[in-house]
Amino acid sequence: MREHGMSVARRRLFGGAVALAALAATRRETAAAAPRTFLRPPEWYRFRFGEFEITVVGDGDLDLGDPAGGFPGHPKDDLTALLREHFLPTDKLVLPQNCFVLNTGRQLVLFDTGVGYTRPFGPNTGMLLANLRAAGIRPEEIDAVVCSHGHIDHVWGIIGGDGKPNFPNAQVFISKADFDYWTDEARASAAGWVGTFVQGARRNLLPVRDRLTFAEDGKEVVPGVVAVAAPGHTVGHTAYAIQSGNRVAMFIGDLAHHQVIMLRRPLIEFAFDTDPKQSAQTRLRLLRQIARERTFVLSYHFPFPGVGHVAAEGEGFAWHALPWGVDL
Ligand SMILES: [Zn+2]
Repeated sequence: MREHGMSVARRRLFGGAVALAALAATRRETAAAAPRTFLRPPEWYRFRFGEFEITVVGDGDLDLGDPAGGFPGHPKDDLTALLREHFLPTDKLVLPQNCFVLNTGRQLVLFDTGVGYTRPFGPNTGMLLANLRAAGIRPEEIDAVVCSHGHIDHVWGIIGGDGKPNFPNAQVFISKADFDYWTDEARASAAGWVGTFVQGARRNLLPVRDRLTFAEDGKEVVPGVVAVAAPGHTVGHTAYAIQSGNRVAMFIGDLAHHQVIMLRRPLIEFAFDTDPKQSAQTRLRLLRQIARERTFVLSYHFPFPGVGHVAAEGEGFAWHALPWGVDL
């Protein structure tokens, strides 16, 4: 009787064919059919927040160079140690930009607009419109553009290269203090970055002046969204509390730019703050409140998608990112 219906000779032949197939598969693995592109995938993420839906849409990364340049009054050794401890590059500070689209069921509300078409921070920025399209959101569907403050990476995406609004049907919200400060003609000729920021704010905010409403502390901008004054980074810097049922989320804008440096050292002074001391006090006060009340945080500059919670830890705070796929 032949073992399992197969002769010894056939089994040898079959075994040889299997070995050859295995060898061919190994060769294929070392010559991938698809080339490596090293391209970033479209940057958007979506989750549920109570009755609302939130889509995070990236505008790309701001490379600020040497971390010490961002915090001139702080010991460089401490910055390096903090970054090393969290396995982050110590030679450059990179800040992602997370814009948020809140869908309340009635309205689409965009929080902040990135650096816009001029891409002043290089080709890996100014990606909001492309990423919105990737997420299936058309710019003309946006009902409100809500701005935290008047800086380059927050309002320069309001107007396109053709001089027309990127979000043609949107009402625009910003604090009066920031509108007045960053569109002040007298400041447009200021030396250094302040003059550049003012010129860009004028280019982006003045053309939508007739559809602009000032966000006021404690008042609703659109149903479900209340302005929360958070001054210091700029004179009228504003966070926004988003409420669905008994859940509260806070879009913190630039209350903290970095999930390690500015949470572990909340009183640190940032180079781009209009009033660094007031900014630090506002940061400490609001972060304490957010941690105590377990408020869900939407952060503009924390690692994409910039959503999670802040907990008190030691003298400062720790960031706990919301895991992929978790709804609130
Ligand atoms: Zn910013």
